Amino acid sequence: MSDVNRNGFVDMHCHSTASDGTLSPAQVVRLAKDSGLSALALTDHDTAAGVGEAASAAAPLGLDFLPGIEISCEYPHPGTMHLLGYGIDPGSPVLRDLTARLIAGRDNRNPKIVARLNELGVSITMDEVEAESGGIVVGRPHIAAILVRKGYVNSIRHAFDKYLGTTGLAYFDKERLTARQAIELVRQSGGLPVLAHPIQLRTTNDAELDRVLKELVDLGLVGVEVIHSDQDRSTVERYGKLAEKYNLLKTGGSDFHGANKRDISLGLANGRRVPREWFDALRDAVQRGDRHTPAP
Ligand code: AMP
Ligand code: ZN
Ligand code: FE
Ligand code: FE
Repeated sequence: MSDVNRNGFVDMHCHSTASDGTLSPAQVVRLAKDSGLSALALTDHDTAAGVGEAASAAAPLGLDFLPGIEISCEYPHPGTMHLLGYGIDPGSPVLRDLTARLIAGRDNRNPKIVARLNELGVSITMDEVEAESGGIVVGRPHIAAILVRKGYVNSIRHAFDKYLGTTGLAYFDKERLTARQAIELVRQSGGLPVLAHPIQLRTTNDAELDRVLKELVDLGLVGVEVIHSDQDRSTVERYGKLAEKYNLLKTGGSDFHGANKRDISLGLANGRRVPREWFDALRDAVQRGDRHTPAP
């Protein structure tokens, strides 16, 4: 790898049309290059279907690439826990079973949302939702985009506030894995598990976050997403210290979704950029097959 490549900034958390982003995997890669990034990880929800296309697009551009995935885990309301899996083998049978199960959870939930919306007088069909998603992983942002287009709400955010978010009129949860299951399955798929956007756990104090993180580390977590669009400067500093305390890898990304999250630009997370060294350390760990397995 050239020295030029190892300089600069990266994005380790973004979504494509393989899940609920609006740019194709190749378009996300192109945008990363045009934005001056030197490396990218694609982390679609519940699927690795986009990583082959992204890897093929990245190679000729000299952009370094890591395959990834983002999985929602069980966690007490009103928090949410998402786990990132980096370096997963897209051909792994464990990964195939895992993603099939996660997508089945969505396929059970989405018709319930649509039926409730219909009861509320909103005209929307599953056919429309599937067409909007253009793929296999159908998420709430796809439903939100239809509600915006039809004029029921004036923004994606408004769609979540009124209908789709946890306190919305048409909210239904989907089947989730426990953190233990998600961590184990990511590892069995050849990947390394990292806690996404810890801010979304909505822990009420540092001691509680410390406790949750300690449990995850004991289960095999190897990293924590220190930089993220939802995390401000002081939060980034606190999470950086926590990562060091538990000898965890630091990761960071924008959580770019294209037009489904208009306020987020690829490579920028709440005004911050993610250093190249973090990508290199993660990729080195993936290549070592690093497991950071704590003593039993
Ligand atoms: P799903 O995977 O179908 O449960 O939907 C989760 C997606 O919806 C993720 O991309 C979230 O970032 C997005 N999302 C969740 N809550 C909101 C919100 N209040 N406003 C906008 N997007 C949201
Ligand atoms: Zn998403
Ligand atoms: Fe997330
Ligand atoms: Fe995400």
